[in-house]
Amino acid sequence: MAATLIDGKKVAAQIREEIKAEVAQLRENGIVPKLAVVLAGDDPASVVYARSKEKSCGNVGIEFELFTLPGTAAEEELLALIDRLNKDESVHGIMIELPLPKHMSKQRVLEAVLPVKDVDGVHPINRGYILSGGDGLFPATPQSCIEIMLRSGIELKGKNAVIVGRGETVGKPLVFMLLNQNATVTVCHTKTADLGYHTRQADVLIAAVGRAKMIKADMIKPGAVVVDAGINQLENGICGDVDFENAKEVAGAISPVPGGVGSLTTVLIQKNVLKAIKLQQKK
Ligand code: NAP
Repeated sequence: MAATLIDGKKVAAQIREEIKAEVAQLRENGIVPKLAVVLAGDDPASVVYARSKEKSCGNVGIEFELFTLPGTAAEEELLALIDRLNKDESVHGIMIELPLPKHMSKQRVLEAVLPVKDVDGVHPINRGYILSGGDGLFPATPQSCIEIMLRSGIELKGKNAVIVGRGETVGKPLVFMLLNQNATVTVCHTKTADLGYHTRQADVLIAAVGRAKMIKADMIKPGAVVVDAGINQLENGICGDVDFENAKEVAGAISPVPGGVGSLTTVLIQKNVLKAIKLQQKK
């Protein structure tokens, strides 16, 4: 393997220790950080994600409460629950698990969460702060892409960064987060002519597509940094959007899947809970 491995688990462990220390300090000052997760319906993957968040919050001393509503609940019921959590001063962060039941408006529900408690970074006000460089709560996965590089000693200033994928969750927020790091940013998508031409210009190539192993070794500039945000379910486990086995022979540094970007998501949501506390104290 020519490339250096960008180790998401190691970076996550480092952030987890920082969170533990900050939570201990808050608790000494009488503040018990709390994350509320709202689950409407019985999507099995959402139940698994919620339970895994509960476990990892327990590991760092963040209190966790899961609120469930049946899939048949009216949207008004969910909005009333969010309103109650918005007003509850013991709750610092609120996450709404997606997908919502089909009869509910995702936009109305996500916009109902108070921006200073929106630890998923999905409220339009927080999205706006990414553009303006303001102090908000930012989505975990694109943040993970940045954090995994910075904490692995990879400089972004002045680099040609190419993102493949312009999805709402990862690609789009990442454009402005990379600009805020002074990278020069190109974004590719399904209508991009000659994708390989663009990816080969990248000093830093980020894949956020959702197509297993679509970034091949010959699409990578020798020595480039490759960060894979993709998660694709295969019969024998998960894989990323990058053809890791061949890409690692060309790249200078590369993040694996699993063990890369995805390893940071939960700790960055927890970091957002701590940031939310600061934002709420400022209000
Ligand atoms: P998305 O909304 O489905 O967006 C996918 C993007 O990829 C679109 O912009 C699409 O282009 C582009 N695309 C698809 N096929 C392409 C191709 N052949 N060539 C060039 N571009 C192509 O996805 P997302 O929600 O942003 O998620 C992206 C990936 O990140 C997925 O693998 C997802 O599982 C993963 N993810 C990971 C985490 C984590 O914790 N690590 C969290 C969230 C998501 P168009 O816009 O032209 O259609």
